[in-house]
Amino acid sequence: MNGHFAAVGKGPTAQQFEHGIQVIDENKTFNTNLNEYLTETNVAPSGFNYHLISVFGSQSTGKSTLLNHLFGTQFSVMSETERRQTTKGIWLSKNKNEGGMADNILVMDVEGTDGRERGEDQDFERKSALFALATSEVLIVNIWEHQVGLYQGANMGLLKTVFEVNLQLFLKDRQSQARSLLFFVIRDFVGKTPLENLRETLKTDLTKIWSSISKPSGLENSKIDDYFDFAFAALPHKIYEPEKFLEGVKKLGERFTAGHRSTADQEFLGGVFLPEYHRRIPADGLSMYAGGVWDQIVNNKDLDLPTQQELLAQFRCDEISKEVLVGFDTVIAPLEEEHAEAVRSGKTTVLPDLGVTGREAREKALKAFETQASRYHKGVYGTKRGELEEKIDTRLKALYLAQLTAAHKAGVADFSDAVTSAVKAGQRAGGSYEFAEIVEKQTKKASEAYKREAESLKIPDVPWTVFKAQYHLFKKDLNEVSARLRKEEMRRLAVRVERWVKSRLGDAVSLEFNKLGSGRGGTGAPANGEKPASEMDLWDRVWNAFITIVKDAETRFADRAKSFDATEDEVVVGLWRLRRKSWIALREKIDEEVMESNILMKLRENFEDKFRYDEDGVPRIWRPTDDIEGIYTKARESTLGLVPLLSRFRLQATLSPPDIAAFVGPQPTGVEAGDEADLDPIGGIDEEEGKSLEEETTVLSESKRQDLVVRFKKMADGVYVEAKRGAIGGMTQ
Ligand code: GDP
Ligand code: MG
Repeated sequence: MNGHFAAVGKGPTAQQFEHGIQVIDENKTFNTNLNEYLTETNVAPSGFNYHLISVFGSQSTGKSTLLNHLFGTQFSVMSETERRQTTKGIWLSKNKNEGGMADNILVMDVEGTDGRERGEDQDFERKSALFALATSEVLIVNIWEHQVGLYQGANMGLLKTVFEVNLQLFLKDRQSQARSLLFFVIRDFVGKTPLENLRETLKTDLTKIWSSISKPSGLENSKIDDYFDFAFAALPHKIYEPEKFLEGVKKLGERFTAGHRSTADQEFLGGVFLPEYHRRIPADGLSMYAGGVWDQIVNNKDLDLPTQQELLAQFRCDEISKEVLVGFDTVIAPLEEEHAEAVRSGKTTVLPDLGVTGREAREKALKAFETQASRYHKGVYGTKRGELEEKIDTRLKALYLAQLTAAHKAGVADFSDAVTSAVKAGQRAGGSYEFAEIVEKQTKKASEAYKREAESLKIPDVPWTVFKAQYHLFKKDLNEVSARLRKEEMRRLAVRVERWVKSRLGDAVSLEFNKLGSGRGGTGAPANGEKPASEMDLWDRVWNAFITIVKDAETRFADRAKSFDATEDEVVVGLWRLRRKSWIALREKIDEEVMESNILMKLRENFEDKFRYDEDGVPRIWRPTDDIEGIYTKARESTLGLVPLLSRFRLQATLSPPDIAAFVGPQPTGVEAGDEADLDPIGGIDEEEGKSLEEETTVLSESKRQDLVVRFKKMADGVYVEAKRGAIGGMTQ
């Protein structure tokens, strides 16, 4: 499988790479360890900063010897004594010489085949030529001086092959197939014929060969210069002039540096490595590319370099993508796990500095991908970069949305807590707090905190990292929460105002009922047993006091509610509830006043006042001659006359109950269904309860009334008897 290396039985080591690596072995098998060699020799990470050279020439023309001197390599050289072919297949080695040469020169020593000489394996010659042309920038053609001009000579067959396979490559890849440099190195150069002449001879021969090869249709008129540049060098005889030979090699070595074409005359400037010769295969993909190319060649498939480059790009981009995702994953996966764990345990976790971490991880991954993968086929790279970005962004987006969900939850909860505790603090401090101000301040604080978090996740030029919709949703929720809190605040306000109404109603109603205790009221009682005016207008006074108190309360409520930005509707509802509750409070207070023991005492006081005092308010001293019975009857009837008045809440002007429905007003639309649960029904306005206004304003039922009359009479009778006894007793005394 791996030729020589398979026999070793273990992975290649630096030591085993000492002689370079046999890329293609004698069985035409490609050595997949090439990438390891490139990694070992530190060429793999160099991107495009490497050069590939191949050497061609007849067998035993000193090719390997030349390369070893030029590049410090250790390709096998035929020993002087054995004279057998040494280089098998194709070997590759990195330049080991330093000083003045380009970086990362890779040299391929191609088996010295010359079909005509060896009479065998023309197939391999063709295949290795194709392989070298598909990969190399510079082809060194090694030739004896005495072979120059021998058009029928051995080398020329090889060159013919090179030209043919080159055209074959061009058929598939007219745009990008790079030019190559044919660098003729003339060996055992004697110096009798100037190099200039040798050069002319060679060029003439090459043109002849070019015209002799059959060209594929479409390329019939192509010229040799369309595809090849030429360079020439001559070296003295290694054995006869060893010093001059070494000197020549040294000079030759200096030409293996970067060069360019002068714009003026298109001549070379600098070294032989022109950018246009480079095959543009990144060093870390070279092994795979070469393997693919060889596979096509060895299987006699049409060599299609563009397709090879695309396949290589796809494979390598995927590999690089996987590598950078590993790095991304190391950073992001623990954060994803933290969020997932928070969700599982129902906690709200806002990860610190997620924006920075995410942005950096993304940047790093994409940058790393770009650095390595952008060297490959542009179209494939673009597609793969898009795929990688999408993979990264899918992960980040899920993470960021989880983060914002957490920030949302935490923000709303904090807001609610902050408002509630500020209100409580205000209440403790005596209730002097402005609810609207608290809400405004906390809303601002919460919105800004959320915005800060959302903006920290922003990645420049990445539209999905603008979280406007989420921010609006957060603001909306804040508004909902503050509406709820305001409603609670309204409730508290309502309770306070209702308590105030109750207390003031208690005083006012008691005051009016207490006036009943005085039979002469404030304006003087008519002695004829008629009820005094102050008794007749009891209900008017109660109603007026009630109206005044409620109006007062309404103003307090509305003012305060507006101060914390309650809506018009909320105020309307609050006032409506206040009026209802106030009426109910009034009814309860009245019920308390007419409770049997209370009312009986008031009637007694009223009666005694009328019975025991004369019109001028002077206490009577009963004498036997007094019309005790007459006065008693008048006073009793007068007091009894109060009972029907007390029994029903009637206003004097209309002789009917107050218009409670008009007072309370129609139910506003803002009242929610569940809201009325705490409201007792009121007769005459809550119709479904089946209680009429008449019933609502009936203070004493018929039976209670009769009961009261009976009890009062008994009590009055007692007073009368006592008075009578007193009168007689006074006389006997
Ligand atoms: P390759 O088969 O082309 O790689 O040739 P080698 O490098 O193995 O050399 C073949 C033989 O040629 C060896 O015996 C070398 O000593 C000899 N040789 C090497 N360089 C020169 C040279 O510059 N001139 C001559 N005449 N012989 C050389
Ligand atoms: Mg050799």
